Amino acid sequence: MKDTHKHQGLRNQLVKIISDKGITDKNVLKAIAAIPRHLFMDSSFADFAYQDKAFPIAADQTISQPYTVAFQTQLLEVKNNHKILEIGTGSGYQTAVLLEMGAKVYTIERQMELFKKTKLFLPKLRYKPKNMIFGDGYKGLPEEAPFDGIIVTAGAPTVPNALLAQLKIGGKLVIPVGDEDQIMTLFIRTSEKDFEKHELGKFRFVPMLKEKN
Ligand code: SAH
Repeated sequence: MKDTHKHQGLRNQLVKIISDKGITDKNVLKAIAAIPRHLFMDSSFADFAYQDKAFPIAADQTISQPYTVAFQTQLLEVKNNHKILEIGTGSGYQTAVLLEMGAKVYTIERQMELFKKTKLFLPKLRYKPKNMIFGDGYKGLPEEAPFDGIIVTAGAPTVPNALLAQLKIGGKLVIPVGDEDQIMTLFIRTSEKDFEKHELGKFRFVPMLKEKN
C-alpha cells in the first residue's frame, strides 16, 4: 500500500484534532503528521486510520488511539538521542513516533505473532529501533538500563518496580495503572531513592499480561 497526498491531508486533519484536544509538543505533532498510520493497520481498517480511535491489530491487541499515543509521548518529553524503553510494541506505531523524534528505542513485546510481524514491518518504513525484544515487559531491560524514559502501552495492574529501578535520575516512566480503567501515571525519578508521582486522568488499554502464550 502507498502513502498519498490524500493520506497526508487526512493526517493534517488528525494533527488538528489532537492539538485541539490539548497536545502542544510540536515534535509529537510533527511525528504524527509524518507517520503513515494506515500502513500499521489491517487493510480492512485502513480507511479509518486517521480517525482519532484505537483499532484491532493481530492477537486481540489494539493500535492505541492517536491522542493517547500523543499524550503519553508528550509526558515523556522526548529529546533527540534520548534512550527510551517501550513496553508493548504492538503494531509499532508508538515506536515509530519515538523514532521520528530522534530517540534511541528499545521495545519489548510478549506476543510472538506481533513481535515477528512488527520486526519485519518497521524496517520497511526505514524505522530502526536499537533493539526489538520478545519478552516480558514487567522485567524491563536491565542490560540496557538506565533509560531517559520508559513508556508502557498496556494497562498495568501494578507498577513494576523493575521499571522504576531502570530510570536515570531525572528519567520518566509513563504508565497507565489499573485493571478495567487505568489512570495515566507519570513517575519522575528525582534521586536514587525518590520518585515524584503525577496522576493524569483516565484511559482504557488492553491489559499488560503476566504469562506468555
Ligand atoms: N504501542 C502499541 C500498543 C499495542 S497494545 C501500538 O502502538 O500499536 C499493547 C501491547 O502490549 C500489545 O501488543 C500486547 O501484546 C503487549 N503486552 C501486553 N503485556 C505485555 C508484557 N507483559 N510485556 C510486553 N508486552 C506486553
